[in-house]
Amino acid sequence: MTNSVAQRLSQVKERMEKAARNAGRDAKDIELVAVSKTHPTERIAEALDAGHRSFGENRVQEAMAKFPELRARFPDLELHLVGPLQSNKAADAVATFDVIQTVDREKIARALAKEMERQGRSPRCFLQVNTGEEPQKAGVAPGDVGAMVALCRDLGLPLRGLMCIPPVEEPPAPHFALLRQLAQRHELPLLSMGMSNDFETAVELGASHVRVGTAIFGERPKP
Ligand SMILES: *Cc1c(COP(=O)(O)O)cnc(C)c1O
Repeated sequence: MTNSVAQRLSQVKERMEKAARNAGRDAKDIELVAVSKTHPTERIAEALDAGHRSFGENRVQEAMAKFPELRARFPDLELHLVGPLQSNKAADAVATFDVIQTVDREKIARALAKEMERQGRSPRCFLQVNTGEEPQKAGVAPGDVGAMVALCRDLGLPLRGLMCIPPVEEPPAPHFALLRQLAQRHELPLLSMGMSNDFETAVELGASHVRVGTAIFGERPKP
């Protein structure tokens, strides 16, 4: 079959390698998070069978329905939360995910810290930054990143990086550059940026993680 998940995965990896080379980077320093939201476990298993181990889901509930079975077969898979988190789901999120990319407000930071303490589990965290300052979008405003980083550190959250979703109608590069600048200023080593349409730009601008769904699994069914 021409468009298998395995083939699409290797095409995306090739494009990442080329972008990394252009920027004088080593592609090994960039993690491809395969965003599997809405896709059934059989499709995800195709990626796992092809050797891929890093996945992203945007809903806690959906991840809890799909991943226990996959984890039983592939214990070394790594699951990232890339969608908004409600504080009443903090316990499930801490139990289910290895990385939480969408810490975006004080209430969530506190709920996660409390659950990590209670469960003795420490998923690595990213702060989501609303680089476009879009009112409808989740994320900390760029001007509030310093205060949120300080709070997360006070709470003992394992904060490792920043994540952003640029406005759809704008070129992404300035947003990626801003995210990198903020991460440097606050001494955070990881940057999650870039999706199917712009991951090469993100790689060139320093991404440590790209989150790619459609280019790997195909179009998502419309809701
Ligand atoms: C769905 C989603 C992606 C993947 O988007 P594609 O355009 O399908 O690659 C990346 N990041 C987040 C936060 C998402 O919700």
